[in-house]
Amino acid sequence: MKYLLVYFSLGFWNWFSAGETESTSLATSVFDSIKVSSKSIKSWVFISDTQAPLIIEKCFLKTKHNERATTLLLQHIKDQKPSSIFFLGDVVNLSYLSHRWKKIDAFLKTYRLMGIELQAAIGNHEYLGPAAKGELHFKQRFPDYHKTGNVFLFDSVAILALNSNFSKLSSAEIMEQDNWYQATLLELNANSKIAAIIVCCHHSPYSNSKITGSTKAVQNHFLPLFFSSPKTRLFLSGHSHDFEYFEMQSKSFVVIGGGGGPHHPLRKDKIAQLSLASDYNPWFHYLQVSYESKHLKLQSITLSPNFSTFYIGWQKELIF
Ligand SMILES: [Zn+2]
Repeated sequence: MKYLLVYFSLGFWNWFSAGETESTSLATSVFDSIKVSSKSIKSWVFISDTQAPLIIEKCFLKTKHNERATTLLLQHIKDQKPSSIFFLGDVVNLSYLSHRWKKIDAFLKTYRLMGIELQAAIGNHEYLGPAAKGELHFKQRFPDYHKTGNVFLFDSVAILALNSNFSKLSSAEIMEQDNWYQATLLELNANSKIAAIIVCCHHSPYSNSKITGSTKAVQNHFLPLFFSSPKTRLFLSGHSHDFEYFEMQSKSFVVIGGGGGPHHPLRKDKIAQLSLASDYNPWFHYLQVSYESKHLKLQSITLSPNFSTFYIGWQKELIF
């Protein structure tokens, strides 16, 4: 049986346990185990690419006190006291080396002591070098991680975290994730208590980054169902160290790779898609997402260029 962990907020659990036939179906047909969160969570922080620049990256990309910027971002997130934080991969630059986790570990420990729930999607830097050791270190920090996808339910919002490192997955694992993704979306779409679905992974399906570009495998494996599912509304990703916002088929895509990796120049010609936030591409940022009745509110929190303050650099409301 495929391992799967689902978080339910207290409110969600209340109606879930009240004998809803749809809910029972949800629990038994797709979800193998359930963890009940004691909190009603309706807002989340998403941050991606908090890794310090590698020496080779410093050779051809500009850097600007990137590690200091990451510290300030993580400190600022702590000060906001969010209920939950999602790391969208490349948490550190070489995951297999224990000492590279030192700073992140201190923040993760603090977050946990504050009662903040931590989840993650795995990035390519978690597989750099000895991949198994890197993945193990990642799993130790984010115990709910599952190699072929995971889903978290918060009140009436489902967040799916997928593994976009297709070159690191076997054919069987890719098929397993594809099948699970399809079955999970079917269940969530059929359940009247689920209002919205957020899908996230590390590699961006679309990006105009000159370094990473778009990821065709993400487009091929994840987007057809994302586009056809009535409740999917938002696709979040990183890998591209930029902020980009796209809209396609009434769905929103946000690239949020501003956690500290070296900033990427953006392509001006032969672009993958036209970013609707082309005048907003700061070096360092993270995303706050909150859910209120019938809409998701997105706010990109920016670290000012002189590192002196934070401000809301971009925001968007997604109405259902
Ligand atoms: Zn990456």
